[in-house]
Amino acid sequence: MSRRKSGLIIAIDGPSGAGKSTVTSQLAKRLGYKQIDTGAMYRAVAWLISQAGIDPADSDQVERFCGDVDVRFDCSNGTRRVLANGQDVTDRIRTPEMSLMTSRISALKPVREAMVRSQRAMGQNGGVVLEGRDIGTVVFPDAELKFFLSASPEERGRRRFLELSGKGEAVTLEETIAAVVLRDQQDSQRDLAPLRQAEDAIPIDSSGQGIDEVLDRMEAIFREKIGQAVTEK
Ligand code: C5P
Repeated sequence: MSRRKSGLIIAIDGPSGAGKSTVTSQLAKRLGYKQIDTGAMYRAVAWLISQAGIDPADSDQVERFCGDVDVRFDCSNGTRRVLANGQDVTDRIRTPEMSLMTSRISALKPVREAMVRSQRAMGQNGGVVLEGRDIGTVVFPDAELKFFLSASPEERGRRRFLELSGKGEAVTLEETIAAVVLRDQQDSQRDLAPLRQAEDAIPIDSSGQGIDEVLDRMEAIFREKIGQAVTEK
C-alpha cells in the first residue's frame, strides 16, 4: 500500500443523512487527521450562484462564474467556518432550499471540475478524511481506505427532521423524508459522478447503530490497515 506524507486518505461516501458529517468529524479528531466536508463546498457554490442570480440552466454563465469561485475552510478560531469567495456562509447553506439547489448545481460539469480540483489540492498529502458522494470513485479513486455509509431513507429522514426542527425550521417529518428520497434520486441518477459505492469501499449501514459503534468499527479497520502497511514495508 502506498503511504503519503502525512497519513492515509480516507473517503467516506454515502447518501444524505447517513451520519457522514458526525462520523467524519469524530473520526478525524480520533486520528488527528484533517476533515474536508465536500458537501459544504457544493453548498457554498450553490449559495454563490443563487446570490449572483445566475440561472443554473445557463451553462456558459455557470462556467464563467466557476472560474472565479474560491471555497475554503477556516478553522483558525476553534470553529470550522466555510468561506465562499471570502464570505462566511456556514450558517446559511443548510436550509432545505439550499439542499435541493445544491443537488441541482452539483450535477453541472464546471461546478464539479472546480470543486474536484480544489478537493484534490486540499487532500493530496494525506492525513485527511473526506466526506461526500464521489470521493472514492472520482476525487481519490486511489484512497487507501474507503467507507460507504448508508441507512434506510426513513431513518435518514428522521435524523434530518430532528436536525432541522431543532434549528427552528418549519418542516414536517413526511416532507423531510420525501426531500431525502428526492435528493438520493438526483444524486444517484445524474450523469456526472453519481452517488455510487466504489467497488473497494467497505459498506456500513448505520441504521439502528449508535455513532460510537460506527466509529469504533471504522477506527478498528483503520488500525488494521495501518498495521498491514507496516508489515508490508
Ligand atoms: O453532504 P451534503 O448533504 O451536505 O451534500 C449536499 C449536496 O451536495 C448533495 O446532495 C450532492 O448533490 C452534492 N454533493 C456532491 N458531491 C459530493 C458532495 C456533495 O454532488 N462529493
